[in-house]
Amino acid sequence: MPLDASAETLLSRVFGFKALRDGQVPIVDAVLSGADVLAILPTGGGKSLCYQLPALVKGGLTVVVSPLIALMRDQVSALTDLGIPAGALNSMNDAQETRRIWDEIAEGRLRLLYVSPERLALNGTADRLARHGVSLLAIDEAHCVSQWGHDFRPEYAQLGEIRRRLGQPQAIALTATADKATRADIIERLFDAPPEVFVHGFDRPNLFLAMRPKSGGRRELIDFIEARKGQSGIVYCASRKDTETWAALLERQGIRALAYHAGLDMETRRQNQDAFLQEDGIVMVATVAFGMGIDKPDVRFVAHTALPKSIEAYYQEIGRAGRDGLPADTLTFYGLDDIRLRRLQIEESDAPDEVKRAEVQRLNALLALAEAPRCRRQTLLQYFGEQTEPCGHCDLCRDGVSTFDGTVEAQKLLSAIVRTGERFGGEHIVAIVLGETSEQVTRFGHDKLKTFGCGADRTKAEWRSLLRQIAGAGLIEQDIASYGQLYLTDAGWEVLKGRRRIELRVDTLGSKGKRKQLASAAPALAGLSADDPLLAALKAWRTQVAKSQEVPAYVVFPDRTLIEIVAARPHTLSALANLHGIGSRKLDRYGEAVLSVVRSASG
Ligand code: ADP
Ligand code: ZN
Repeated sequence: MPLDASAETLLSRVFGFKALRDGQVPIVDAVLSGADVLAILPTGGGKSLCYQLPALVKGGLTVVVSPLIALMRDQVSALTDLGIPAGALNSMNDAQETRRIWDEIAEGRLRLLYVSPERLALNGTADRLARHGVSLLAIDEAHCVSQWGHDFRPEYAQLGEIRRRLGQPQAIALTATADKATRADIIERLFDAPPEVFVHGFDRPNLFLAMRPKSGGRRELIDFIEARKGQSGIVYCASRKDTETWAALLERQGIRALAYHAGLDMETRRQNQDAFLQEDGIVMVATVAFGMGIDKPDVRFVAHTALPKSIEAYYQEIGRAGRDGLPADTLTFYGLDDIRLRRLQIEESDAPDEVKRAEVQRLNALLALAEAPRCRRQTLLQYFGEQTEPCGHCDLCRDGVSTFDGTVEAQKLLSAIVRTGERFGGEHIVAIVLGETSEQVTRFGHDKLKTFGCGADRTKAEWRSLLRQIAGAGLIEQDIASYGQLYLTDAGWEVLKGRRRIELRVDTLGSKGKRKQLASAAPALAGLSADDPLLAALKAWRTQVAKSQEVPAYVVFPDRTLIEIVAARPHTLSALANLHGIGSRKLDRYGEAVLSVVRSASG
């Protein structure tokens, strides 16, 4: 279906985009046709445009509910910069600003109003907006309404009621969270009648996916970051202390690094975040407290020093890289200690058993991804319900992974578990297979078992990995509620009885095979720092403009625009207007300046 002609014009004239993305087309069509919509697009998928463009086409006021003030501030400044009348109502406003926004609403001039759910729930706010008329209600990060999710926000639970108070305007809810329970919750709480639901491609082909067991100490990660000097990146750590240790370590290597975690005071956090957003080439070393609502499109890499919390968390965190669609790298380290810690955290939490079980399942799915025997992207997308071909753009596709028929190994482990009455944890089972006489092994007489020492040909690290892999493959489960005893599932019995075979990997934790240095996945950006004089000149110009306007550099122009300018070397305003991200407003504002940078760098 061709896009509404006025939408098409606005898209290129105001936003400077050539076309909507595949995932955006049906959503924008549905919103323009007046339907209520639930849009599930992954991070970076371009959710904002799905309500911003209709807001302009429809006219009137679009109210955008957004949970984070920092995000609102950036969105509003980006929109204002495009010449779109936008404002935010939140606790950071002073009285004068608030008055100006209400005036613009009263005069029918404001198109997009960003507002926090708390603010919307405040006495009078919704009623006052209703009097002026709301043409569209957009609810960003809609998963916050769900108690199943990790980001539940009580204020979001009232949004159904608030929508009624606003006069039940057409609504679009947007989220990147795909799991079914959350989806159902969103629909139930926000919509009276079922909305049109769109789920679009979770594949992020520009992200290189890699996960590695922690075996090379800190050097591996330092090398990875050093190879990307001058690029903006995020390093996620498991604890506050780790963020500080790593930031200091990177600084000593001459890499500009800042720490970010919830234990830092507000001012430091704000400063570090602003620096990361506004300057190029800073590595943010952070806990997961950092990132929600950080809309920095040119993050070139995301690394994890330890295993993330779940596949959803992993996806969300790596998804903060390469939001501009340009190549970006990800690298996640995992180790036994992380896994043990995660299990402990789950066991010791006060959550009800069903939630704990759900958490354990999530953890196991994540481990299965870490130790996947085939294309990592295929494994990841399968979790979200998408089938794809091997991608050629992940560590497993690129470096290959040697699998072997691990049926016999699996049987050794399964047999040790069964022969000890399914009453012991992983370490005990590994000791038996290895033939180690620990105090516990002798006390239970397990050194007399037939399986004792049957796996002396492999190392302890290998057996641990194999044990996790058969758990990842669903052959065994662990009784989390008591002592972590392992027991066989039906699939496990199938393998033990020789009715089913299983492929396993050899090269996970602890194997000493040499690892290839990860090549940068960002060749298009290789010259971004100094190689191309025009690119360097444009970046310098952009930094100066961004500083003087106190906005992030990408608000002036994203990297992609600069790269297109370098490629096209435009000499006229109309040639410039054809490039990505250059709408009429940007052209008026920066066109001549850009042309003069091009002229002087070329001449
Ligand atoms: P999300 O909220 O889904 O994570 P955003 O709305 O922040 O994603 O969009 C991500 C990036 O993609 C932004 O830099 C945005 O300008 C860009 N973008 C969105 N839609 C398009 C499009 N149709 N063409 C080009 N760039 C786009
Ligand atoms: Zn792959």
